[in-house]
Amino acid sequence: MQASKILAGPPIAERIRGQVAERVAARLERGGTVPGLATVLVGEDPASQVYVRNKRKTTQEAGMQSFAFELPDSVDEDELIALIEDLNVREDVHGILVQLPLPKHLNEVRVLNAISPIKDVDGLHPENVGLLAQKGRQPRFIPATPKGIMYLLEEAGAELSGADAVVLGRSNIVGMPIALLLLRANATVTIGHSRTRDLPALCRRADVLIAAVGIPEMVRGDWVKPGAVVIDVGVNRIEDASRKSGFRLVGDVAYDEVSQVAAAITPVPGGVGPMTIAMLLENTLQAAELAASNS
Ligand code: NDP
Repeated sequence: MQASKILAGPPIAERIRGQVAERVAARLERGGTVPGLATVLVGEDPASQVYVRNKRKTTQEAGMQSFAFELPDSVDEDELIALIEDLNVREDVHGILVQLPLPKHLNEVRVLNAISPIKDVDGLHPENVGLLAQKGRQPRFIPATPKGIMYLLEEAGAELSGADAVVLGRSNIVGMPIALLLLRANATVTIGHSRTRDLPALCRRADVLIAAVGIPEMVRGDWVKPGAVVIDVGVNRIEDASRKSGFRLVGDVAYDEVSQVAAAITPVPGGVGPMTIAMLLENTLQAAELAASNS
């Protein structure tokens, strides 16, 4: 028996993409510029190729311009930074996204810091992280995956104020920013990571549990408090001989077990993933609006 409400990403993401497309069309009618997103892909990582292709396609479908840049794995760091600096000054480019992970020889910090903070639609520039982290500041760009998670929590009707929220993972792109957003929403936030002593006990305290670790089905049914809202960010490939591809995708949460306990849960695939792209589109439109208000 399925006990949980399933928080499906695709219908919510589609609604948001539609809203972005309407706002873009209205902007053009008012004589505004077409929002433009530049995506930079370095190397040939198959998963990154799929992600970037989807981002480009949905950008165009929303009526925005997509500028695609593909650089070889061997690209020199200064060459990549020179490209970013060009994009920083182009008036038709409002958002810049460098697909991660970068090949090992490139310094990710230096590359991401080169992106102008007002075009940083991934929200990874320290200035934007600072705005998100500091009390009393208005965040500029919220990283796409955590922003999508907040929409899903709203959809779940999760009461965040005063709730015990546990975030598993402390990465710059998911764990840390979602913890900051939950804190802004007045949850009491604890972050678990690879050195945490007793993860199951920590998770059992959570009214809201976010798993962003990258370990297939790590969170078991008996780790979850009955009635908790569980968001599974993990995307893990596991072998599956019954599939043509030879693999299938699972999350960081043992879905079959946890869905018997939680009040609401996101599936993998079809949960957080589609939200991430919709949020990127929202951030790109926001970047174009920001550029217009600054000009
Ligand atoms: P990272 O590898 O950057 O971070 C993983 C985090 O998990 C780290 O903080 C690490 O702790 C922690 N961790 C690792 N092992 C354990 C363990 N045994 N127990 C507890 N914590 C552990 O991953 P990301 O944040 O980039 O991604 C996490 C997952 O989310 C991945 O599966 C990724 O594919 C997926 N993802 C999905 C997206 C989507 O749109 N659906 C977008 C982005 C990511 P420590 O810091 O101590 O090393």
